[in-house]
Amino acid sequence: MHSRRNFIKISSIGIGATAITGGAIKWAIGASSSQKLSGGLKSSPVWKKVPTYCEVCFWKCAGWAYVTEDGQIQKIIGNNDDPQCNGRLCPRGTGGVGMFSDPDRLKTPLIRVSKDGEQTYREASWDEALDFIAKKMKEIAEKHGPESMALFNHGSSGKYFTHLLNAFGSNNVAAPSFAQCRGPRDTGFDLTFGESVSSPEVTDIRDTRCLVLIGSHIGENMHNGQVQEMSEAIDKGAVIITVDPRLSTAASKSKYWLPIKPSTDLALLLSWIHVLIYDDIYNKEYVAKYAEGFNELKEHVKDYTPEWAYGITTLKPELIRNTAREMANAAPSVLIHPGRHASWYGDDVQRSRAIAILNGLLGSWGNRGGLFFKEGFKIPEFPHPEYPKPTWSWQNTLNGRYPFAKEAVTNTIIEASIPEDGKEHQIKGWIVSGTNLVVSIPLKEQLMKAMQSLDLLVVVDTMPMEITGFADVVLPECTYLERYDDLRATAHREPTLALRMPAVEPLYETKPAWWISKQIGERLGLGAYYNYTDFKEVLEWQLKQVDLSLNEMERVGVKKFARKTPVYIQPGLDHQFKTASGKIQLFSHELEGAGFDPMPKYTAHAQPEDGFYRLIYGRAPMHTFSRTANNRNLVALMPENAVWVNPQVAELWGLKKDQYVWLKNQDGVVSNFPVKVRVTQRIRWDSVYIVHGFGHHHKPLTYAFGRGVNDTELITSIKIDPIMGGTGMRGNFVTFIKDKPRQEAKS
Ligand code: SF4
Repeated sequence: MHSRRNFIKISSIGIGATAITGGAIKWAIGASSSQKLSGGLKSSPVWKKVPTYCEVCFWKCAGWAYVTEDGQIQKIIGNNDDPQCNGRLCPRGTGGVGMFSDPDRLKTPLIRVSKDGEQTYREASWDEALDFIAKKMKEIAEKHGPESMALFNHGSSGKYFTHLLNAFGSNNVAAPSFAQCRGPRDTGFDLTFGESVSSPEVTDIRDTRCLVLIGSHIGENMHNGQVQEMSEAIDKGAVIITVDPRLSTAASKSKYWLPIKPSTDLALLLSWIHVLIYDDIYNKEYVAKYAEGFNELKEHVKDYTPEWAYGITTLKPELIRNTAREMANAAPSVLIHPGRHASWYGDDVQRSRAIAILNGLLGSWGNRGGLFFKEGFKIPEFPHPEYPKPTWSWQNTLNGRYPFAKEAVTNTIIEASIPEDGKEHQIKGWIVSGTNLVVSIPLKEQLMKAMQSLDLLVVVDTMPMEITGFADVVLPECTYLERYDDLRATAHREPTLALRMPAVEPLYETKPAWWISKQIGERLGLGAYYNYTDFKEVLEWQLKQVDLSLNEMERVGVKKFARKTPVYIQPGLDHQFKTASGKIQLFSHELEGAGFDPMPKYTAHAQPEDGFYRLIYGRAPMHTFSRTANNRNLVALMPENAVWVNPQVAELWGLKKDQYVWLKNQDGVVSNFPVKVRVTQRIRWDSVYIVHGFGHHHKPLTYAFGRGVNDTELITSIKIDPIMGGTGMRGNFVTFIKDKPRQEAKS
């Protein structure tokens, strides 16, 4: 292997130009024949309806792909029977076909080679690429043990590579969505209620009388079912309270907007708890029956008055009291939304605990309009031999830190990949599936060091994302519209099953992840774990076990089942929470036992120096992270991000609407590209805001390249949550550079 893994621009060698196969030719014809088709609409063309569920975000809405006789996808619409979307897809789901038709897609396997002293990629056959990977994995296992292989994954395909790694003898499987996103929230709720809020969340927004959003911008984060339910709740007169330094879309629909000073949310939460307890307006019956640790909590929040919080949050005491009363009036049909991206300041489990405690004091969990009990439809796993037991696992990479991490922490797997003399648990090879680590992971230096040190780096993706340029082998995966996948069996308000099947044949030389996993597995002598020739067989077998058939699922797309358990706490019946004592833990003995605060405390966080502004980032309804920034359909709706700047700040800096500026952070890092200024009253003067996912610096992403700014390149200061290893990313500050900086944009 090369001693140093140089970044390779895939475009530089014109990859894939010769690899177009029958499927692509069909598509090429498609561009012109779609016009013919619109004329043909009068003669009612015959379109095939193929069931799928969307992969543009994790919500996985079920839909129908409409396909013409000559194999073109004309449109994707929601499945009316799916409670996760109610027949309506969001703009990204409707535009999902742009993932399939993107001309920049990866088209053929690539292998890193040296040519005239330069590193480059050469196109390879699947056999060559898969043989190469299997050989390297065997070498790694022989020298260092199978545990030295790790997987980073996101999305549906991760499951197949998890199976591969588990069969190989490693459980070093990390999803960046844990440490970088939902982990602190899941841990905080788990420590309080004995379980997390799941995904999609068990939030009963539809029937709530009061919804509190804290840094959660529903509507801009287009979690389909939640957005629909929030609009239903507004129609029914629910009170919406939004806490955000920015007037988000949700804030604009709210009765109360609390433009909090960023980084002080815990002070507000604690003072709300204070008001509920000391004004005696908490849900006494519920707390007496289901919670423990109330007296300790009462004593703990004694001094956290709204007057105390005012000095920290800049929110007036009256506003804090009024909003607490609104919650109490609505209880138990009230929901303090747990949020999703919760890795902010390094004390995020404690902030999530405070949110969970508030829900507990109001009696939300288990009551209509609060948090409901989920139920899913159980589908048996396709049989395979037992996995071998690894001699060490991701827990060893924690080195005694983060005792409440229930999943692998991305950054400790990365750390374990940096060689050190005598390091006991060393990772030597990575498979990266569907996650662009170069853009999504903070602490870039550490990431680069790790990637340079590996014996093998395989990237499986549909697009030439930045991470592909570091791979030894790049494997082109087909999109969700071209493959079978696991049945979607999410547990939620109603148990459902949804089918995804190929709407069209895979374009180019692309392959589904199940096939790639199986091919590598068989080359590693793990054929017994893949006892089928086609994934269709797996689905047929699974459905047969529950008296269903693939034919039926193809016809309906989604199947709903009657619940067997109640959705809320039943009057007169006892309910046990899933904690050790069966009660809601207002005081956490588990945290205390591990040396952490048993109840959340407020600690101050760093504030921007003069001339710097806190960098806040979020989402837009037409994009999902950086995954969609090259999707032609969605780029048409939003081609680039803009930096939101308060008018006072704009005046101070002489910034005009639509002017382009570069952003420089507290560590002197300057954005690769300039970003447009949006002057707006909708943001506090001490913060700026950008939508995450833009500013790609990989030229093969021909649409996304150089458009807007990438927030993660400016996130160089991280606060790690000691409880579960979450990487808090909101403690970064930026200033403006109005003239082109000397350092040229990287490409
Ligand atoms: S919310 Fe939108 S992007 Fe996400 S799965 Fe549903 S339709 Fe697709």
